Parts: sequence; C-alpha cells; structure tokens
Amino acid sequence: MTNPLDSLIELTRALGEPQNDYVIIGEGNTSLRLDEDSFLVKASGHGMHGIGADGFVAMRIKPMLALLDKPPATLSEEKAITNSAAIRQHAALPPNALGGTEGGLSPSVEASFHAMLLHECGLRYIGHTHPVAINQILCSEYGPDFAFQRRFPDEVVLCGPQSALVPYADPGLPLALAIREKTREYMSAYGEAPKLILLENHGMIALGETPAEILNITAMAVKAARIFLGALMTGKPTHLPEEEAWHIYRRPDEIYRRQRFVAN
Ligand SMILES: [Zn+2]
Repeated sequence: MTNPLDSLIELTRALGEPQNDYVIIGEGNTSLRLDEDSFLVKASGHGMHGIGADGFVAMRIKPMLALLDKPPATLSEEKAITNSAAIRQHAALPPNALGGTEGGLSPSVEASFHAMLLHECGLRYIGHTHPVAINQILCSEYGPDFAFQRRFPDEVVLCGPQSALVPYADPGLPLALAIREKTREYMSAYGEAPKLILLENHGMIALGETPAEILNITAMAVKAARIFLGALMTGKPTHLPEEEAWHIYRRPDEIYRRQRFVAN
C-alpha cells in the first residue's frame, strides 16, 4: 500500500500537470487526513507541478477549528496560531522533514479551510485548484447556473447533483468561514457532503475518499465548464431537470459506476 505522503504527492503532481491547465506557479493546494487530529497540507509557496516531500506540512486539526470558532483580531495572530498548529515531526513525513516555522515551511494560507472541510465532511482527500475553464464561469454572472444545475449524466455521477457555491471572500479565515457556511447549508439540505465546491472569483474544491475521486471530480468539472461555455457561445445552455439529476445520482447502476471509478 502506498504511504499517505506518497499518495498526496502523486495526487498533487497530477493536478499540477501543465497540460491540464488547472493551476500555474504556486496556485492551488491539496490535503489528506492522517488520523483523528492531524492532516497533511501543501506548504505555502510550493508549486503543485513536480512537488516533493518537502512541499507538505503536517498539522493538528483542533487548533485550526478553534481559529474558525474564535477568529483572532489580527492577521499576525492568525498566522502565529496557524504556524504553531504545524507538527514539527510526524510519522507520515520523512525523518528529516521539519514542518512549521522551524523547518522554514509555512502551511498554505488556505490550510484553515482544509482543516474545516476534512472535519465537517469526514472525507480523506481535498484538491483545490483554479482551472481556467472553471474560473471563466466563476468570474462571470453565470456561477449559480453552473453550480446549481447539471447538463449531462456523467457530470451528475462524478460531481454530484449540485455543487455548493461560495460567494467571494478574502483568502484565509474569511474564506474558510464562508465555505463552512455554504457546506453546512448543503449538508443540512441534502444529508451528505458536496463533492464539488465552487468559489466565486477564485476556483474549485474537490472532496473525496481517494486520490482517484479528486482527479475524476476535477476533470469532470472542467469538462462540464468547457461544455457550459461552449453552449453559451452557441446560444443558451440547456440543463437537466433537477429531478432527473437526482434520479441519475441515485440510480443503482450509476452508484456502481461511481464506486468503480473511485476504488483506487
Ligand atoms: Zn485558491
């Protein structure tokens, strides 16, 4: 079995492949829940393409959740708490890895939403990217049309019957709080976590149990975005009726296909 860090490195590199056009330079980040109170997250300032073991920090979840429940008054206080939540040595990291400020690694500024989503949704992997096709929609007035409706069956199977849509918020704690609000709304309406969260004027978040699920959701969301944009260019996109999207999502044969796709 692949060790957790290697699986996260592989996932991050795959999302960072230049031909995918999901991220450039230092954009995007990934995380993996390790156990009850710890997770791995990409370090700030590392590009996803070709990332290595030195590009990740192990962190404790609880101090990050406390940060959301009681936001500190200043940014420097927030940064100090975030850095102190980094675990200096963790069994999941190579013996010479030094997380936190002592190792010269700072967790991503988006570490707070990773901790929150891993906790709230109970899933293992998160992949956050800024794909061009997705942002062409999310930097326009068509975000709600794209997020709340579906165009074709495999979009439903992989990305779920709807996405959660989060209004623009300042990256860091304000964004983590905005994502938490919309994720909780989605979970109380539908009884399960969203597979795809769309951030207006920012990017997307895929949530899943395996690296394959993150890659599948991201690829299908980007394909759906391209189709939506193409349909806009030829006229007005048409959508699946909401009840049809839910019907497909719950069909036993589609559930079987979804499980097969994410099994590795
Ligand atoms: Zn981002």
